[in-house]
Amino acid sequence: MIKSIVKKYLIKLGNFYIKNGILLQEKQKLLVVDDTINELFVKKFATKSDYYDFFDKMKNEIRINSIKNKWFIVDQFEKIYKRKVKKCPLCECDITIKNNDAITSRCIFGGGMLNRFQCPECKVIFGPMKMLDLTDDELKEEYNIHYSIFSEGDSTESELKAFELLKPSFGKKYLNYGSGAWSKSIEILLSQGYDIYGYEPSSVINSLNKRIFNDRRKLQSIKFDGIYSNNVLEHLRYPNEEMRYLSNLLNPNGVMVHATPCFEYLYEYTRFHLFFFLENSREYIIRGLDLVEEGFVKDGEFMAVIYRKGELI
Ligand SMILES: [Zn+2]
Repeated sequence: MIKSIVKKYLIKLGNFYIKNGILLQEKQKLLVVDDTINELFVKKFATKSDYYDFFDKMKNEIRINSIKNKWFIVDQFEKIYKRKVKKCPLCECDITIKNNDAITSRCIFGGGMLNRFQCPECKVIFGPMKMLDLTDDELKEEYNIHYSIFSEGDSTESELKAFELLKPSFGKKYLNYGSGAWSKSIEILLSQGYDIYGYEPSSVINSLNKRIFNDRRKLQSIKFDGIYSNNVLEHLRYPNEEMRYLSNLLNPNGVMVHATPCFEYLYEYTRFHLFFFLENSREYIIRGLDLVEEGFVKDGEFMAVIYRKGELI
């Protein structure tokens, strides 16, 4: 009885149908959900929380499938579409890149094929173009859907390492850029007596959380002596513009540290990584800005660039 209700519920939610007693989604392989149903009903005394868990699994399964379907369709167009890239999105040099030149990977989060390109001039690897082509709102929506299913690992250790590279001192102001809705590194550093703030565009305003801003205008009212980020640089749609904005938040002689393993072609299996700053391409991140590269640190997969803002003349 309950089994049939669950199936009816699923059929209502998605494009499901039942064939030979097996729950199928159109043009999809047999869904994992069917195993879950069997698993649930083998249990004679399923509790309320079993059912809640089950429905959560179902919802995620449906969300993941809708992501896969979306990018499957986009990929079909990508195959036919003779894409030509005429300008490097980082150094802006004129280039002629075609589909055949793509460096390919696959998104483990349902985003399908990832075709990226390397700029012959600055050596940055950029793409997939299907993500770079999204508008700001569309990209935001991608993140919202992604984070409704997947969560990030704990990166406190790398964040603290990046902070240390600022050579911080008490009484100065610091910013964790792209901190997440709440950041353990901010919590730890506050408890140590540092004056530290966070910026996270997707964070929800929370009265208990006055240290994290989601509004750029509020951020602009403060000047910082140091800014650090971890696993942010590779997500930025316009890295140079973003650095210009951050540079304006810095006091003269202020320091920025940006840590990411994407100074190499690592963690390429997610569509959300838009740039891999290989070789000298990181020079172009700060092109035309009052920032100089003061150092580059590599310790295994922990890699960080240190930029310093010029002093006022
Ligand atoms: Zn380039």
